[in-house]
Amino acid sequence: MRVHRIFIADLQGGERVLTGSEAQHLAGVLRAEPGALVRAFDGQGLEASGVVTQSEALRVVVMLEEPTSSTVEARIEITLAVALLKGDKLSGVVRQATELGVARFTPLVTERCDVRELSVNKLGRLRRVAQEAAKQSGRSVVPAIDEPQKLGAFSPDGLVLVAQPHVPATLRAALARDEHTRHTPAHVTLVTGPEGGLSPAEVSSLEAKGARVVQLGARVLRAETAPIALTAALLVPEAL
Ligand code: SAH
Repeated sequence: MRVHRIFIADLQGGERVLTGSEAQHLAGVLRAEPGALVRAFDGQGLEASGVVTQSEALRVVVMLEEPTSSTVEARIEITLAVALLKGDKLSGVVRQATELGVARFTPLVTERCDVRELSVNKLGRLRRVAQEAAKQSGRSVVPAIDEPQKLGAFSPDGLVLVAQPHVPATLRAALARDEHTRHTPAHVTLVTGPEGGLSPAEVSSLEAKGARVVQLGARVLRAETAPIALTAALLVPEAL
């Protein structure tokens, strides 16, 4: 039987009445009847199995087991600091990077960004895209999406990798610099530029803050491809 994933903030075991969009989706779209199985998640890493006990158009009652921690989160906690992109390209980046396991997004305003702000509507849309992608990919963490920050004011956490075409260092070489410590860094921040790229001054200022500049192969990738390629290069090997 198919298990429906539902988002519930303040997740606890026991009976729970769902109203609003989750109820509408479960009852109206998925036509979940009493007896249907659900897996609830809270967006923070907890999940709980349960069963639908009552189902009406705008009101669904579920009985949940005690929540447990999710086992699908990536071992490396990745913050993706991606430059603002034209049109709707950031939603594609958020969707795909959420599926791959990114923990947080920090949209950046850089020197060569054509788009210099993110409207409240667009930010709200990106947050919905992250929630939808988390649900769909079996995650119980919904990555946070920060307000955009200027690159100059950005203070990244953990190991910082900046993607830049045509530089000598490969990702492997940048990571090998820590090999003596014999552990993968727990927190990594990835920085990728806009359509026009990062300026040399921006790259040097990130390096001055300790960032490592890496290439992703000899081909120049689109601004919306590079963040996905870099994320996949770090997270897919967990499955190998
Ligand atoms: N017109 C720019 C390319 C920008 S590509 C130029 O020629 O420099 C947009 C962003 O994608 C870049 O800022 C970089 O972060 C990333 N990127 C694209 N291709 C890459 C590659 N081969 N290696 C590393 N980063 C890359």
